[in-house]
Amino acid sequence: MNRTLKDYEIVVGRDAVSQLQQVSRDLAGARVVHVNSTRVGGGVAEILSWLIPLMNELGLDTSWEVVTGTPEYYNTTKTFHNGLQGNEVILPQYMLDIYEKTVTENAEKLRATLEEADFVFIHDPQPAALLDLCPNRKGKWIWRCHIDASHPNRKVWNYLRSKVAGYDASIFSMPQFAQRMDHPQFIIAPSIDPLSEKNREMSPDEIATVLEQLGISGEMPIITQVSRFDRFKDPIGVIKAFNLLNSHIDARLILAGGGATDDPEGAAVLEEVKEAAFNNDRIHILMLPSDAHLTINAIQRASTIIMQKSLQEGFGLTVTEAMWKGKPVIGGNVGGIKLQVHNHHTGYLVDTPEGSALRIRELLRRPEKIKAMGMIARKFVTENFLLNRHLREYLTLMLGLRRGLSNHLIAN
Ligand code: UDP
Repeated sequence: MNRTLKDYEIVVGRDAVSQLQQVSRDLAGARVVHVNSTRVGGGVAEILSWLIPLMNELGLDTSWEVVTGTPEYYNTTKTFHNGLQGNEVILPQYMLDIYEKTVTENAEKLRATLEEADFVFIHDPQPAALLDLCPNRKGKWIWRCHIDASHPNRKVWNYLRSKVAGYDASIFSMPQFAQRMDHPQFIIAPSIDPLSEKNREMSPDEIATVLEQLGISGEMPIITQVSRFDRFKDPIGVIKAFNLLNSHIDARLILAGGGATDDPEGAAVLEEVKEAAFNNDRIHILMLPSDAHLTINAIQRASTIIMQKSLQEGFGLTVTEAMWKGKPVIGGNVGGIKLQVHNHHTGYLVDTPEGSALRIRELLRRPEKIKAMGMIARKFVTENFLLNRHLREYLTLMLGLRRGLSNHLIAN
């Protein structure tokens, strides 16, 4: 990333940038390590891609480490993910053994860096067990849960709690996800980088060129969902909604997705999606490489309506991305989508394919509503979900922990 803080002044204002510089002054030189389980694919990698360079620019000595493992390890951590998001899952002892063995192997490589760090942010369950494996840690450790943990599977949560209870703090994206734990829990919503390839402005020509390369005609309204091929994102529900409408509207549906190296279920879900879309030449299923940021940007901008019909959702950066581009979002009435989609204002919250179809039809008949919702959506993101707010909350949390914050505190 070649952008500097100064570049963001044009979007978020000078005061917001200087506020970050002020807040970070007392943290200058602090060693910060972020740990997750993939460098590409999914929202966490998207956030860390801008967070690390900006923290460095603010004077914190920040690095990004990634835990790796065998397919069995990723199967286990995906089981944690599915269980945390409320699915019934089977979690036999051998899976826990694989998990602990893999994190132990990673700890051998990372221990020196982690034990020396002043702040360690562990993202999601995949690396969570690292804490117990770094007995001589010097700094504050924060568990950052990006998952919709509102109704976790008890067995999965009881196990994970034993791994995260010892952290100095945890962060969730919304209050409904917080859990009973004896350390402070903070609420910090994610955000997007407005100047990244994914979100920067694009000219109509640039957008048209991308669509042409994809072989998608722009003459009909486009409805899009951008997501990893994951059942929680309900791509089949989106296809069902579109098929309900097919004879009533002239539109195209794009389901654009890719894989994440830590998500082993993508290929199977993609097959299910292809089967559901079989025979409908107005449905475009795009399997994109992990660096297709500009392509996704163009698709989102070319779309009339963006869908995010998730069944569970930690936050849903794709929703913010769409709203930033002035698009109304029809989103599942769950998790972090509810922080962003304000029913009838920035889009519609839906529970079923039938409800989605109804809202798509309603919007396509009312272009003025699409425009009005898009404008409110853009403003809402500008005020709430850009990276400066997110970064400021991380910095204040770090200052608070360093100064010995001991109360149970919900920030924001
Ligand atoms: N994304 C991408 N390529 C894809 C699918 C998704 O770059 O094929 C990006 C998407 O634009 C967003 C992030 O990955 O920035 C997904 O974040 P979100 O919070 O929506 O979902 P997650 O995958 O983390 O559950």
